[in-house]
Amino acid sequence: MPPLGDQLLPTLATDDFYNETKAKIFLQFYDQTAKVVLNQFMEATWNYVTNITRKNQEEMLHKDMERSQFMIYFGIRACLFKVAQFQDQDVKRMLRKLQNIDKVALPKDELREYNELLANMEMTYSMAQVCLNERPCLSLEPELEEVMATSRNKEELLWAWQGWRDAVGCQIRTTFEHYVELSNKAAQLNDYKDMGALWRSKYESDTLKQDLERFFQELRPLYLNLHTYMHRALHRHYGPELIDLRGPIPAHLRGKGPAGGRVLGQHLRPGPALLPKKIPEDVTKIMKGQHWKSEKMFEDSEKFFTSLGLLPAPPSFWKKSMLTRPTDGREVECHTSAWNLYLDDDFRIKKCTEVTIEDLLSIFHEMSHIQYFLQYKNLSIIFCEGANPAFEEAVGSVITLLASSHKHLLNIGLLSLKHQDSEDEVNFLMRIALQKIAFIPFGYLLDLFH
Ligand SMILES: [Zn+2]
Repeated sequence: MPPLGDQLLPTLATDDFYNETKAKIFLQFYDQTAKVVLNQFMEATWNYVTNITRKNQEEMLHKDMERSQFMIYFGIRACLFKVAQFQDQDVKRMLRKLQNIDKVALPKDELREYNELLANMEMTYSMAQVCLNERPCLSLEPELEEVMATSRNKEELLWAWQGWRDAVGCQIRTTFEHYVELSNKAAQLNDYKDMGALWRSKYESDTLKQDLERFFQELRPLYLNLHTYMHRALHRHYGPELIDLRGPIPAHLRGKGPAGGRVLGQHLRPGPALLPKKIPEDVTKIMKGQHWKSEKMFEDSEKFFTSLGLLPAPPSFWKKSMLTRPTDGREVECHTSAWNLYLDDDFRIKKCTEVTIEDLLSIFHEMSHIQYFLQYKNLSIIFCEGANPAFEEAVGSVITLLASSHKHLLNIGLLSLKHQDSEDEVNFLMRIALQKIAFIPFGYLLDLFH
């Protein structure tokens, strides 16, 4: 039993589960206690990912077990309420959300195993390095991503692409397979066919699959055009021995990060697919010339939000975030993410920032998450998440798109050419298409066949 459980929550008699007022009291109680339990779990997770040690991993797994007990306690009771006669739609929705206890439905030993598998995969991913003969070993962020984004040397690209997969994919393959088994088992214990069905349920839509298929079919002609154009441009650049116009495009030649991580791989850098006469200004070079620092990148992003009348990040954000890779020898997980710690306006970002335009735009994306956290912090903790899993990301994408516009980059002194002609505009649109349109069928395919 969680320490905050039975002692404080009034006992619920059979009749109470038909009573809407009792349900509201139950939800309020959940809200107060969940803040503390989730905060402790998030804090322990933060400590682990910003200082990867066995001890911190143990502490995180321990807090996760406490959180799990807590979720089971409330999940079981949420299932008992008979909501058919309830009037308040929010109450019904909150109870429904609490009923879904996700992985926590697993038996205790399997849950611990699940958490360990996840932590071990994260550790392999964060600490992996690719080494070759006399060259120094490279980690994913930033070195390998830099190679994938800028190199046009086919051997080097293949080395980075394959090396990364050997160092991570091959290592975690069996762990991942077992993780999938346990995930599906957890979903089944929650009354879903598999984890895919559980994920889809979060969209609260009966037509999600059909909507996505229709959307994909609408997009298909544009995608095929883009694919063909890119295929030919790479063929011109690398020649017929590497690019077969009748075969697929080799993955290592697309100019993307080895893990697909840096979605803006080709952003604002000359690439084979752009109109050749118009070499875009190298914004990264301009930033470096102006001696930008990571703090300035975050501050400028915050200014953008406040200029729209939105909220500034709270003072603790600046104190507690990890905005650059630590130099004190700590192992950290560099994967960029925004954190809600659910207590006292504690919101953070973890990022190993480099002074590049890609990182500047990624900061705008992460700061949109912080903005979203700030905007919904007064709601019940059950509603402290995006309206559905895609929505919060979409807000981030809109903000990033605005921030990457010619007008905004000109405003913050990162472009010198005042006017764009039609070729500049085509290049801009092409880059956006390569980042966004090219990814959609790939992402859709993964979801269809995972
Ligand atoms: Zn995001």
